[in-house]
Amino acid sequence: MQVVQLPHYNIYVGDNVVKALCDFVASKSYSKISVIVDQNTKEHCLPLFEESFSCAFDLIEIPAGEENKTLDTCQHIWKSLFTAENTRKALVINLGGGVIGDMGGFCASTYKRGIDFIQCPTTLLSQVDASIGGKLGIDFFELKNSIGVFNDPQGVFISTDFYKTLPFEELRSGYAEVLKHALIWNAEEWNKLQQETDLKKINWHDYLVTSLSVKKEVVEIDPFEKGLRKALNFGHTIGHAIESDLLMTPQRLLHGEAIAIGMICEAYLSKKVGLSDDALNRISTYLVSIYGHHPVDESSYDRLLAIMKQDKKNEASEINITMLPEEGKCAVNQSATPEEIIESINYYNQL
Ligand code: NAD
Repeated sequence: MQVVQLPHYNIYVGDNVVKALCDFVASKSYSKISVIVDQNTKEHCLPLFEESFSCAFDLIEIPAGEENKTLDTCQHIWKSLFTAENTRKALVINLGGGVIGDMGGFCASTYKRGIDFIQCPTTLLSQVDASIGGKLGIDFFELKNSIGVFNDPQGVFISTDFYKTLPFEELRSGYAEVLKHALIWNAEEWNKLQQETDLKKINWHDYLVTSLSVKKEVVEIDPFEKGLRKALNFGHTIGHAIESDLLMTPQRLLHGEAIAIGMICEAYLSKKVGLSDDALNRISTYLVSIYGHHPVDESSYDRLLAIMKQDKKNEASEINITMLPEEGKCAVNQSATPEEIIESINYYNQL
């Protein structure tokens, strides 16, 4: 088991991690423990969890999916905690993907003004992206993550055993964040990752630790997204617009699939800050080999630009983009005109 140390808590990665979680909890004197699951993690992850977790706990089940990351579901969680008479010395363990982690962490942080919580993330995305940074919350007023708090867990316990039941598309979606961390920060890691052609055969352990270390470094330098933390936005300005635009359509893309398109477009724009044609070619070729090619409909361009213009990071009429001067390096607060953005999507479409 490896430990990534953060200022206020540790992330444990490896085998037997649930046993370590059990020992960690047993060493504290919690009055009660609640484990939050959804129907999928109840079926697939809870049995594995219970093999090594021997402390008594209450189970709180919520419906799976982003559409349930709502105030209604929070009410269900809060009511369950009250009904079971949890005191301020109680603990919540979030066993699930990013939806459970964000919402369960938010509910714990606000229940009786805040009780301890532990993250046991079961998707690759939640392990590499949601484990660091303290962002917790829910969707409200049709806006993603619009209500929430910054707060840290007592610990994060990461096991790749949960991937056995994770749908392949979810695994591949989370992989986009691993690639992003390497592309903005660590050229050596990016070179290694490009050799990986079959995600089902990857030995994830070291990649997870390196990826977490990148996010750790970036967030420690800029905890409140004043500057450098925007580097983590690479691929997200254009990717998030594509994801949002397709959300209610049959062509809907998972987060990482849309971010992969965004990374190709934003790598194209990065030629402005010096990214070479060879590097752009390497990035495009590898990402298309993993995620396939999903042409972006020209009729959506105006809608995409409208979504991108809403971003609070923009100044004047230009759109704020994180760019790559070279593989493994990032330049935040760059900007692109709507015409340049359309050119980058056209580049993606002709690949
Ligand atoms: P998710 O939580 O919806 O999980 C995806 C699906 O996989 C769900 O249906 C879930 O029930 C199922 N599942 C989870 N683990 C499984 C397993 N091991 N086996 C079988 N099925 C499993 O989605 P996600 O991709 O994990 O996370 C997305 C959410 O995370 C979004 O709400 C996003 O806003 C949030 N997020 C937060 C941060 C942060 O910094 N806090 C960072 C990135 C993403």
